[in-house]
Amino acid sequence: MKPRILVVEDETHLAQGLKYNLEAEGYKVSLADTGTTALRLLENDSHAYDLLILDLMLPGVSGYTICEKLRSIDDTLPVLILSARSLSEDRTRGFDVGANQYLTKPFDLDELLARVRNLLRLHPRKEPSHKNKTLSSKVDQIRFGRASVNFETYQVTVEGRDVKLTHKELSLLRYFVENQGRVISRQELLTEVWDVSGEMQTRSVDQFLLRLRKTFEVDPANPKHFLTIRDAGYRFIANPAESDQSTPGLDP
Ligand code: CA
Repeated sequence: MKPRILVVEDETHLAQGLKYNLEAEGYKVSLADTGTTALRLLENDSHAYDLLILDLMLPGVSGYTICEKLRSIDDTLPVLILSARSLSEDRTRGFDVGANQYLTKPFDLDELLARVRNLLRLHPRKEPSHKNKTLSSKVDQIRFGRASVNFETYQVTVEGRDVKLTHKELSLLRYFVENQGRVISRQELLTEVWDVSGEMQTRSVDQFLLRLRKTFEVDPANPKHFLTIRDAGYRFIANPAESDQSTPGLDP
């Protein structure tokens, strides 16, 4: 996926030039020509972008204010300030409000592109999560089947007996719990739980699944909680009985 850059710049000529050159480098570029527009876009969904290039002197809301407000909702979006103000106190203020880099106009295009590359490399954004934010929520503990799991204390019991899970097994379990009912692909698990893509074999995911089944299922060969969905991945069902009742057609 192309890195997405929001350019906030009120000088049309400069904004268009930046867009043209950044797109030539393979980035997806959005433009905002007032501070008000920029703030609305960022407050609406700052995770739609991987990098922000921000002018300081803008109609509406200043770049400083934009950066400050952005940082209150998103502290990972890299920000490159682009400004005609070259005084050191302007730079300092830029960094104070949370900018990562400061480049003075007029700037050298190659330098700008190099800084953009660096910022993107040093501050990778997570892939926009496949998780539906309204469906998934942080879960601290859960009981399912014969098991009770506390993700805060790492305490896991099955039929009252303590069970030791590795950190990775717990992370995997937690991801299932937070996305229960949804079919999750092996690739998604690799990206979201292992934070890798490609290098690790999807087979390793299956190995972890076998271990979870062995720990939690009454009959690991005939799982009720950690289901394999053919050609698609896995699905976690906390309470199989309830899930059956909610299936259309089974209502009395
Ligand atoms: Ca300006």
